[in-house]
Amino acid sequence: MPCKFCKTNPVINLPNSEINLCKSCFIKYFEKKAIKTIKQYKLIEKNDHVMVACSGGKDSLSLLYVLNKLSLKERKIKVTALLIDEGIKGYRDDSIKDAKKFCKEHKIKLHIASYKKELGKTLDQMKSQNPNKIACSMCGVFRRSLLNKSSRELKATKLATGHNLDDEAQSILMNQLRNNIALSSRMGPRTGTGKDPRFIPRIKPFYFLTEKEVATYAFLKGLISKFNECTYNEDSYRFEIRDLLNNLEQKYPGTKHSLVASFIEILPTLKKSFKGKSIGICKTCGEPTSSNICKVCNLTKEIN
Ligand code: SF4
Ligand SMILES: [Zn+2]
Ligand SMILES: [Zn+2]
Repeated sequence: MPCKFCKTNPVINLPNSEINLCKSCFIKYFEKKAIKTIKQYKLIEKNDHVMVACSGGKDSLSLLYVLNKLSLKERKIKVTALLIDEGIKGYRDDSIKDAKKFCKEHKIKLHIASYKKELGKTLDQMKSQNPNKIACSMCGVFRRSLLNKSSRELKATKLATGHNLDDEAQSILMNQLRNNIALSSRMGPRTGTGKDPRFIPRIKPFYFLTEKEVATYAFLKGLISKFNECTYNEDSYRFEIRDLLNNLEQKYPGTKHSLVASFIEILPTLKKSFKGKSIGICKTCGEPTSSNICKVCNLTKEIN
């Protein structure tokens, strides 16, 4: 079947539909869908300084491209990029090069924060000193905290991440299966109320776009030249959930969309139920936390 709109050769069949699109119609469809999410959930407003969490991969470079395009159109929005260098030999060095090249080409300011500078050790060093610890668990705690801290120090008003519909469907199911509904209540296209200045609200403009759509967009726009995978990639539970959802999706198309759509329906109720837990200050480092000592300080103590 040809492209639905212009009848030329298609490049993609849209998920859960009979619709085929050609390159230029798909690019328009993709950008329109991201902008629709931004408008519908008020992810970005006038005078926002949006910090894009940039790993140099397909999701973050596509997001950076789309948001930078938006900032050139709507001049009251500022877009910059933040890359976290975990210190992973053979992986991060290449993606730093890609991100630097991309930002230079598009005249986007790129900030780099590193575990080495912030925590005194690279992830490689942490892992070799703690071989029984899962690299992704350590990495996730430190990355979340450093993204928030650096965005705040750089005076960003929003922190944008390239999470897509597949990522969100996995997280929803993982939280459900682990009975971690409190964590789910903090998810959605926009997280954080913006009322606590220590937390920079997080936004996910690709929330309703699938992984396949983001990969196709990045490829068609020539944003990535090669696929770069982290040497650790040890979050095996997430991989199992990913495979499970992919199998279900193949058998019952629309599964992931339905999971995310039903989650969005119940999210306001979840948020109401879990509202009100006061956030204090970590006694060791002064960063915001709901316990006496934050996760970063606990983990740092554990691995040293
Ligand atoms: S795969 Fe794991 S270790 Fe590698 S960057 Fe991602 S979270 Fe960190
Ligand atoms: Zn077309
Ligand atoms: Zn702390």
